[in-house]
Amino acid sequence: MSATYRVVATDRVSKKGLAPLRDDDRFEVVIVKDSSTPDFTSELKTAAGLIVRSATRVDAAMLEGAPDLKVVGRAGVGVDNIDVPAASERGVAVMNSPGGNTISAAELTMALMLAVARRVTDADRSIREGRWERSALQGVELRGKTLGVIGAGRIGWEVAQRCRAFGMDVIVYDPYLAAKRVEELHPHLVSLERLIETADVITLHVPLNAETRGLIGDDALHRMKKGAFVLNVSRGGVVDEAALARALHDQRIAGAGLDVYEHEPLSPDSPLLEAPNLVLSPHLGASTKEAQIQVALEVSRNIRAALALGDLSTAINATDLARAAGLS
Ligand code: NAD
Repeated sequence: MSATYRVVATDRVSKKGLAPLRDDDRFEVVIVKDSSTPDFTSELKTAAGLIVRSATRVDAAMLEGAPDLKVVGRAGVGVDNIDVPAASERGVAVMNSPGGNTISAAELTMALMLAVARRVTDADRSIREGRWERSALQGVELRGKTLGVIGAGRIGWEVAQRCRAFGMDVIVYDPYLAAKRVEELHPHLVSLERLIETADVITLHVPLNAETRGLIGDDALHRMKKGAFVLNVSRGGVVDEAALARALHDQRIAGAGLDVYEHEPLSPDSPLLEAPNLVLSPHLGASTKEAQIQVALEVSRNIRAALALGDLSTAINATDLARAAGLS
């Protein structure tokens, strides 16, 4: 049987993760490593599906050159590189893969938490600089400490489970949880004020929006315990970076770990670079072999369902598509 749907995959999406499409006779998968080449433009002309990571900008002009396109899949979470309104206007579904990164992001949060608590990066630097500073690099145990999770969705939940295994008490602030989750978490669900004032480790797992921008700023940092740590593996902008740098310099909190920043890559004149007791990683939350396979698998399954069955339930622009088609 000849393939019915052509799907172009670019940005070095994991080949293993394309199995749901490659193993199905109804699909032909064309891999084009670099989307800035004429090859890509020509393959796109007859494609029904497109899979990208973050490098390719899917804008109105690109969509114009893909008259048969029905679905764009982002192997990963953020769709900042896709012009979603332009896609909706053309009736193109946009799908991402929010679940595939969860464990990798939760494990990186644990890595930052342990690195801050035990001064791992300072210790490494000090040895390389010829010092052997055993007392200066004393750390703290996590056992018996209170973890404050802000945003108990997929990642926040996994971090909470891992911290319980470390003997931590977990409290949670999340005003949008389903009733079942609220029941499960009671009495560990607390107000934001209580969490900020009582947690020893505060970890952020929220989306960035008008409500969460600057959630951890001067005010929150002033109210935290002196020995508290702040971790952000969610989105830059949730933490006010200048305020955090000041709080670390003034020893108003004891440490922090960041994977995400207001502007990425981090500018060389960022005040964070001079702040003490701060562990930084360059947006590595999803950077594992496993996550790259998982996100590609998830998006491939969703694209298969969209093209073969017309199932658009996982499209992030499903409502706009229905509106554009005059269904709502
Ligand atoms: P999710 O949607 O499963 O969970 C987000 C949670 O935040 C939800 O439970 C929601 O109710 C809660 N929330 C929303 N607004 C809130 C508010 N104002 N206060 C408190 N809670 C609020 O998302 P997820 O998959 O767990 O991802 C969490 C974050 O991590 C997202 O911002 C995502 O983009 C980011 N992320 C980063 C990386 C990385 O590489 N660093 C990797 C994956 C995900």
